[in-house]
Amino acid sequence: MKDAEALIQSMPGFKGKLLFAEPMSAHTSYKIGGPADLYAVPKDVTDLQLLIKGLAEYSVPLFVVGDGTNLLVADKGIRGAVVQLGTGFGRVHVRGEEVTAGAALKISRLLRETIGRGLAGLEGLAGVPGTVGGAVYMNAGTRHGYISDTLVSISAVDQCGTLVTLTKDELGMGYRESKVRDLGIIVADVQFELKKADPEMINLVVESRVQRRKETQPPGVGTCGSVFKNPMDGHAAQLIESVGAKGMQIGGARVSSKHANFIENTGTATAADVKELMEKLVKLIQEHCGVILDPEVQIVGEW
Ligand SMILES: Cc1cc2nc3c(=O)[nH]c(=O)nc-3n(C[C@H](O)[C@H](O)[C@H](O)COP(=O)(O)OP(=O)(O)OC[C@H]3O[C@@H](n4cnc5c(N)ncnc54)[C@H](O)[C@@H]3O)c2cc1C
Repeated sequence: MKDAEALIQSMPGFKGKLLFAEPMSAHTSYKIGGPADLYAVPKDVTDLQLLIKGLAEYSVPLFVVGDGTNLLVADKGIRGAVVQLGTGFGRVHVRGEEVTAGAALKISRLLRETIGRGLAGLEGLAGVPGTVGGAVYMNAGTRHGYISDTLVSISAVDQCGTLVTLTKDELGMGYRESKVRDLGIIVADVQFELKKADPEMINLVVESRVQRRKETQPPGVGTCGSVFKNPMDGHAAQLIESVGAKGMQIGGARVSSKHANFIENTGTATAADVKELMEKLVKLIQEHCGVILDPEVQIVGEW
């Protein structure tokens, strides 16, 4: 990367990690994706602010990654910097029914921590992989509930490196969307308002939903979860099944025979394979069902 040395020099006191030409396949659930020019892991908010200012000074574009469970990264990788929030963003703080969770905290850990304290409200996220920050960006959830249900506000760092607070209303959270992208902010931590309940009861609900997912989703293969959003009246998986596309394969990418809205990396898939298969499905469903499927997976990088 041009000016890498100068960039590093411009951030004295940066405590995090900086890696060059880091393969994104190591940071996505698909196990797919070429190198990021710079892979930066700021340790805490101060580090993140320093990094954002440094990158802006050298006009380096920035992309933030959570746990990479909803990403299709190009085989050529990502130009500029990829930022993954470090250990300082992985904390959870509980005061009564108010919970503050760091954006790098795994959703599964947040559930464990809150259930352990007898706090309900996040069960809709049972079994959803990824981080709190990624879940806010995507407004992740299931038919049982979304992260927006109990979210009160977030703290985030804007493009100038300033720490800002935004309420749920300001985030415009809808089905698999929020204004996080348009606002160009990086979520740092998230405040929730939960409700006291019997931990055993919450646990039972969560366990049964996790079990149900195991029965309906392909195990042990790289996927990004649902590839397409559900259209207004219907289910993307049913549409894909209705055109007989289960098991359809391009290169190493295959439509799952267990869940038609999942595309599996059979082990050798490239990003181009997955993208081509997605395009084929969109075309087939438009022709046969008159519906245009909208990707849920975030397609990023240099194509
Ligand atoms: C097996 C499987 C099952 C899944 N099931 C579900 C499901 O039931 N429901 C559901 O909603 N999703 C599901 N998903 C998709 C995925 O888990 C969610 O979208 C999740 O919220 C993504 O979180 P992440 O941390 O992995 O984000 P990433 O995939 O890393 O990123 C997703 C987007 O969020 C942005 N982002 C990440 N962190 C931040 C941050 N701190 N600040 C600003 N932007 C950020 C990224 O730039 C990117 O645009 C599934 C995925 C898999 C692999």
